[in-house]
Amino acid sequence: MLKITPYLGIIVLLVSIGGLWYPKLGYVVALVFLSILAISPFRGRWFCGNLCLWGSFNDFWVGKISRHIQIPRSFSSMAVRVPIFIAMMGMNISRIISTEGSVDKLGMVFVTMSILTASFSILFGAAYSPRAWCTLCPMGTLQRFLGRGKYPLKLDQNLCIDCSRCQKVCPMQLDVRAVGGDPDCIKCGRCVEACPKGALRF
Ligand code: SF4
Ligand code: SF4
Ligand code: SF4
Repeated sequence: MLKITPYLGIIVLLVSIGGLWYPKLGYVVALVFLSILAISPFRGRWFCGNLCLWGSFNDFWVGKISRHIQIPRSFSSMAVRVPIFIAMMGMNISRIISTEGSVDKLGMVFVTMSILTASFSILFGAAYSPRAWCTLCPMGTLQRFLGRGKYPLKLDQNLCIDCSRCQKVCPMQLDVRAVGGDPDCIKCGRCVEACPKGALRF
């Protein structure tokens, strides 16, 4: 996690609320898409754990109202994620085409995406765990495919004392010691920071 990560969530509110009056704020969302396309082929889902505005929003805003319970395993199954990916991509692409190049209309399409993502984040995050939406978010799924196996987490078995501290801090509720190159690890580094033995590293 970067030093600025906890503060990025405020931009979600600025874009989702301010964008209703000033649609050009929506272009922040386009910047996020471009960043994801540029970073994920080299670092997998690193963007999700360090620079995503909604990821930060989930951790540091939604986290305050979350029940912090187990995220259903089915959320991260491809049977759920692929149809969501196709439906949301299809909807967004058709809406972008319908703007016919109008700067404000296109900005409003992005603002709507921000509002939808924030709404899903709050809904899933409040019901389960702050990062519940991130287990099935289409942008997370895209990064999973683009950056599979990149920047893996490594465990030194000789140093590990089985204290499970890493397990308790993982926002994606992964089996940290078995993560390795799990494409759904968001490379947030919380497990690395929590390990008292320095047994984890990227
Ligand atoms: S899964 Fe989606 S909402 Fe969550 S951090 Fe990644 S891009 Fe952002
Ligand atoms: S395994 Fe570690 S780096 Fe990966 S998501 Fe969990 S806490 Fe973050
Ligand atoms: S926090 Fe470190 S020592 Fe403890 S279980 Fe995890 S890897 Fe092992």
